[in-house]
Amino acid sequence: MGIINLLPENLINQIAAGEVVERPASVVKELIENSIDAGATEIIVDIEDGGRRLIRVSDNGWGMSREDALLSIQRHATSKIREVSDLFNISTLGFRGEALPSIASVSKLRLTTVPKGSTFGTSIRIEGGKELEVIDSGGPVGTNMEVRELFFNTPARLKFMKSTTTEMSHITVTVTRMAISYPYIRFIYNHNGSQIYNLPSSKDLLSRICKLIKEDEKNFLEVSLNNGDTFDSTNNSPAFGSPYLLKRGLGGVVKVSGYISGPEINRPTNRETYIFVNGRFVRDRVVLHAVMDAYRTVMEKDRYPLAFLFLDVPPMDVDVNVHPAKTEVRFRNTDEIHRAVYAAVSEALKGWTARKGGVSSQELGVRSYESERPHYQDRVSEAIEGYSSNNKSPLAPPFAKRGYGGISPNGQLPTHNLEKTGFFSSLQVLGRVGETYIVCSRGNDLCLIDQHAAHERVAFERLKSIRDDSTPASQALLIPETVELNPSETGLLQDYISVLTKAGIELEHFGGNTFVIKAVPAILSRKDVKGLIKDIVDELAHMERSQSLKDIMDRLFSRMACHSAVEGGDYMDSMEIQALLRDLDSIDFSSNCPHGRPVFVMLTQLEIEKMFYRR
Ligand code: ADP
Ligand code: MG
Repeated sequence: MGIINLLPENLINQIAAGEVVERPASVVKELIENSIDAGATEIIVDIEDGGRRLIRVSDNGWGMSREDALLSIQRHATSKIREVSDLFNISTLGFRGEALPSIASVSKLRLTTVPKGSTFGTSIRIEGGKELEVIDSGGPVGTNMEVRELFFNTPARLKFMKSTTTEMSHITVTVTRMAISYPYIRFIYNHNGSQIYNLPSSKDLLSRICKLIKEDEKNFLEVSLNNGDTFDSTNNSPAFGSPYLLKRGLGGVVKVSGYISGPEINRPTNRETYIFVNGRFVRDRVVLHAVMDAYRTVMEKDRYPLAFLFLDVPPMDVDVNVHPAKTEVRFRNTDEIHRAVYAAVSEALKGWTARKGGVSSQELGVRSYESERPHYQDRVSEAIEGYSSNNKSPLAPPFAKRGYGGISPNGQLPTHNLEKTGFFSSLQVLGRVGETYIVCSRGNDLCLIDQHAAHERVAFERLKSIRDDSTPASQALLIPETVELNPSETGLLQDYISVLTKAGIELEHFGGNTFVIKAVPAILSRKDVKGLIKDIVDELAHMERSQSLKDIMDRLFSRMACHSAVEGGDYMDSMEIQALLRDLDSIDFSSNCPHGRPVFVMLTQLEIEKMFYRR
């Protein structure tokens, strides 16, 4: 006699409900999504007691026939997909056909619906998944879903419900996200009979946003990266570490639009960074990271902007079937998404500095430089070119790959060739500020170098040269280090051992979850090897398997470079600074830089004079 049973349908639904219906707000989300998918232009949400007593969502969408209404509460019943290929081309918010049966299995549900073109409809009553009543009903076209006593039959879940205020605030967050994503839909939202939102249908996204979050429209910048424009990472300006040239028609189509706050309007958490992918609110690490990267030079550390970003990605380039509640997506090409978002947000931020006009004391330096960015790039290129022609040095050093640098691939400081040659070496070092920025002058101009970014950039280029030369310049560790990982990390690292060997890291699986690290690239040999491996595993875990070997290696190198670089705040003596400047001269600035951050900024005499209103 076997011990395995097939579970009854209702139990299956309750199990699914465990994932889909976490709390009242999840019900609200699923119901509103269904209304939107049904073409509603008006959605009314009524809540009682934080959703414990009642969640009612009514819409003026196209409704359901009786046959469909009865099917809609069956598991895996959906009108939105039919075959496997549809799964890779989803344009609706729902598609799993799980929400209604899950909700129905853990509540007392009344579904009333009148289909388009009809004056009468159907009303169905279900309790804990049991169909109790199917009757005729009248009313306007649309659907009305009433969910009462959520979790009444699952005491364990009921216990996990938080206070009315807490559940209520989750519902408000949900309604807010939906209302931002669909400004043309009229939303009415009431709690215990009092009105919380009454949002008229609007074409104006910004006015809807500002109504909801109670901010002033003038604090926002429009983001708009047009359809078909993609960012060309292979052609960034040589002297400037931060690439955002837009080129039409390269790669896939990503459109980024929406609004972001100027840097002075910020928050202590990233909770008000809203990301919508094809209309769906999602939390996405890659997009968040790109947004923060774009703000990095203009916003204080540990502060976050308000951002409302809409990404339009071809449905086949994004997998929405990753998470039961559909709050995560998987992009086919994360790098492209990162670049597009970074480019879009950076562009918008330029508008902010331009709009601010004059220079206030607070905006001296980085911010005024931001507004000058385009000319600035030209000027630096000119400066470097001018320099090299005057100095008869072989080619303009930052553009030419040369075999020389303060830190050579084998990690030794060179003793030869110490005379000053390149652009960076020709700078006069005045000192350091903020324990991070090297302050230099060049004639009457001022130059600030971010020591960490510069170091990271140099290390990245050195590591990349390992990839290009086929002989890895790795250095055996005197005492091999052992690293313990967890089982999933172990599997991951095993898969990538040969790639890591190419990247100069020699390691062996020692059995169990233990690895022995035998050699690492020379420039990393004196660093914390365990930490390095952990970082690499983390990078691998967030990497897409479909990436090319080159992309994988670049990401690894970028992570390794960050690991090897001096931190902002680390002390550097003048010898080290000089070595770093020489290193900068030896690298090829025309290539892609790891994080897209500027390595240095330049303030010309003219700019300085303008700041003091002398011009
Ligand atoms: P999914 O949205 O993933 O298809 P659901 O369980 O949420 O699954 O809904 C099942 C089906 O019921 C939907 O595919 C849709 O056809 C129908 N439906 C649900 N809610 C509505 C509504 N408000 N108006 C019209 N049809 C609806
Ligand atoms: Mg649905």
